[in-house]
This record gives sequence, structure tokens and C-alpha cells, in this order.
Amino acid sequence: DALANKIAAGEVVERPASVVKELLENSIDAGATWIRVEIKEAGLEEIRITDNGAGMEEDDVERAFLRHATSKIKNESDLFHVKTLGFRGEALASIASVSKLSVQTSQGDQAGTLLQLEGGSLKHRGKSDARQGTDITVSELFYNTPARLKYMKSLHTELGHISDVLNRMALAHPEVRIEALHNDKGLIRTSGNGDILQVISQVYGMSVAKQMLQVELKTLDYSVHGYIAKPEVTRASRNYMSTIINGRFIRNIGLNKAILQGYHTLLPIGRSPIVVLNVEMDPILVDVNVHPAKLEVRFSKDKELFTSVENMIRDRFREITL
Ligand code: ADP
Ligand code: MG
Repeated sequence: DALANKIAAGEVVERPASVVKELLENSIDAGATWIRVEIKEAGLEEIRITDNGAGMEEDDVERAFLRHATSKIKNESDLFHVKTLGFRGEALASIASVSKLSVQTSQGDQAGTLLQLEGGSLKHRGKSDARQGTDITVSELFYNTPARLKYMKSLHTELGHISDVLNRMALAHPEVRIEALHNDKGLIRTSGNGDILQVISQVYGMSVAKQMLQVELKTLDYSVHGYIAKPEVTRASRNYMSTIINGRFIRNIGLNKAILQGYHTLLPIGRSPIVVLNVEMDPILVDVNVHPAKLEVRFSKDKELFTSVENMIRDRFREITL
């Protein structure tokens, strides 16, 4: 099974940013309202994530590091109603198999469980600090997969990917306070008060935040809210169009197209807007079970969503030019 975990790790853990993403998702799934991220050397030396979430019971901790151990899906029908960010039960096993990992977790203000693993094998079991939540430290990522380690780009590039993950998670979860440090220097710090515009200001700067228009829309199946930048605020890349479905940052070509069509002729050629759109829908209408680490999702009734998003944006600009 150690080999199976290492193979799965190839899919789930592409680079340090993948570890940050999976651990953040777990903290959010555990109901954390506060998450601290501490990174050393673009995550290749150390990634530490501390949360104030639900924690794990003593008997569950070891199981969480086995492959396909998930507490989030109990039967096949749950698979079509995924409300959590994780559901495959592969991330922890995969990460543990290619690193030296230590976890402390407690479900109250008494000592809980401490586990230390190396390459996925348990090395030490003990008592954790007495603090509600979970604290996972991933050290020496890819130490036992030299080929993968060699494939890593510069620290600068890897840190860029980590920053993207942090920014996306912060935009998708303004209700969670996120503090992240790289080599003790601040990367992002959000308040967790739920205000998306405040997070936009953190991520893109105050001057951008000042140029954002609030949008909102409700159809039978979808509820959409967020911010769109005035056409003066554009970027040369579509990476600034953030679309979030049920708390999950996603990419969908159709949805992006609908946004761009909403701007219609207002955007200069080759430019894209800064947008943050949060879509809530019944999980049955969205298929997230496409690829473990990919952002793509499929919707049912996608035409309905695309048309309403396009119209919502067009109407918003009509309003301000009137
Ligand atoms: P998945 O998220 O798909 O269930 P993971 O491998 O990411 O699979 O995590 C395995 C299990 O470990 C989760 O289902 C959850 O029960 C537990 N877990 C992981 N991280 C945390 C955390 N930060 N707080 C509480 N429980 C956690
Ligand atoms: Mg997970």
C-alpha cells in the first residue's frame, strides 16, 4: 500500500502548492474559522498549517493517513451531494508518503494525539498539545522521490503557485481568517469577517478594490454574488477571473465566456477583467468528481447559469451608464 500511496501522490501532490491547497481544504472542511500557514523555502523545506477546526479523535487520526480514508463520504449517493472540499480521502496518505509529516490534533482543550510519519510509515505516537484543532507539519517534501524533486521549478515559481492557492482560498472563504508567512515574512492576512471586498483589497490592492462593483443574482437553481471590476481595470490574463462554486475555486470555460460576454464591447481586445463571483447551488447540479487535483467542474443546467451571469453583468453596466 505504501507504493499505491506514492503513485497516488504523483496525481495529488504535484508541487508544494498542492500540499498547501489540500491542507487548507481539510481545515476548512473541519470548520476552522482561523488558519495559520507557515512556509519555509517555498514549501520544500517545511509547510505547517494550524487550524482551530474540529480536530480528530484518537482512533481516527491513524486511519486518516490510510488511502481512501475519508470521513466525508459514507455511501455512493453522498458522492452526488458533495458539500465538503475533500471527499476522496487520498490527500493525507499521499502527502505523508512523500514527506516527513507530523500531526497534532485535539478535540478540546485537553491533550489529543501526536503522530510522526516518514514516507508514510508511523515512527512515533504520542500526546499533542492541549489546543482545540489540528496542526500538521510537512517537512522535506519529495525527499524520497528524487525525480519529482528535480522537477521542481525555482523557489520563486513554487512560491508563486503557493501564493495563488492562498489568494484563491482567501477569496473563496472570506469568512475564514487566514494568516500566511513565508520564511517569517507575511504573504496574506485576512480578517475572516466575511467581506469579500476586503479580501479583494488584500489580494489585488486597495486601488483595485475601489473600482469594483457589487453584483448579485438569484435564479431558481443558482444564487450568485460577488464583485466585478469596472472596464477600466483590466489584466492581460484570465487568471484574474475568480469563479467559486459552493466554496470551491473552479475554472470553467463556459462561465468565463459568459463573464466576458457580459462585458461585451467594454473590454479592450486581449484584456480580461478582475472578477470574483461566488456561485451557490444544490451540489447535485455540479460534478466535482472529475480529476483529483484539477479545478474543472461540470454543471447541469449550465446554459441557465451562463445566460444569467452574462445578463447580470450587462445590466450592471447599463445601470451605471444611465
Ligand atoms: P478527504 O479530505 O478527501 O476526506 P484527506 O486525506 O484530505 O481526505 O483527509 C482524510 C480525513 O482526515 C478527512 O476526511 C478528515 O476526517 C480528517 N482530517 C484531515 N485534516 C483534518 C483537519 N485539519 N481537521 C480535522 N480533520 C481532518
Ligand atoms: Mg482533503
